[in-house]
Amino acid sequence: MIKTKQDRILKELDELFPDAKCELEHGNELELLIAVMLSAQTTDASVNKLTSKLFQKYTSVEDYANASIEQLENDLRSIGLYRNKAKNVKAMCQKLIDDFNGVVPNDHEALQLLPGVGRKTANVVMSEAFGYPAIAVDTHVERIAKRLGFAKKDDSVLTVEKKLMKTIPKQRWIKTHHQLIFFGRYHCKSLNPQCQNCHLIDICKEEKRKKYLKKKS
Ligand code: SF4
Repeated sequence: MIKTKQDRILKELDELFPDAKCELEHGNELELLIAVMLSAQTTDASVNKLTSKLFQKYTSVEDYANASIEQLENDLRSIGLYRNKAKNVKAMCQKLIDDFNGVVPNDHEALQLLPGVGRKTANVVMSEAFGYPAIAVDTHVERIAKRLGFAKKDDSVLTVEKKLMKTIPKQRWIKTHHQLIFFGRYHCKSLNPQCQNCHLIDICKEEKRKKYLKKKS
């Protein structure tokens, strides 16, 4: 039986996106980590287009660490912030060689010691590569959590993550994380949410929903 708003939201997410999953293409933990690092302020589609060639050219941590920064920049040029990303990917791979035997660590704290790897990236790698329950709060997850009342408008990203973890059953964290991203990417978009087709309109706290309801009445 459906009891709470949260139950309704989770049920709706299950109905809309039963097969939501990570859309960054990767074949191993290193490729996943690099794809997530490259995805900052860039679409997954752009990253996939780039990595389809990048992952053929660079197949080991040594390949990235030994590449010149100019070469890496050139190979990442098609995505935003490529200079910074090239610097971080090279330094991250060097750190993996120096401190982790060239292996992506299965450890949340250790991941965050790597250059360019913050809490969100560590959460994605821990959940996607190692199956550890985590909710990575990206721009979609933050927006949806606030629109649907899991968190308040002024909450920090970390507070949003904590509130989601408190409300959503742990066994659902990985799945719900992907579903929230899909909901934000394909249904409740930042600028043009599909309020007219939304079954959660009565729960939603977003101003745009109010405008739609006003127009309708
Ligand atoms: Fe998003 Fe509109 Fe649905 Fe609110 S009513 S969750 S803004 S699509």
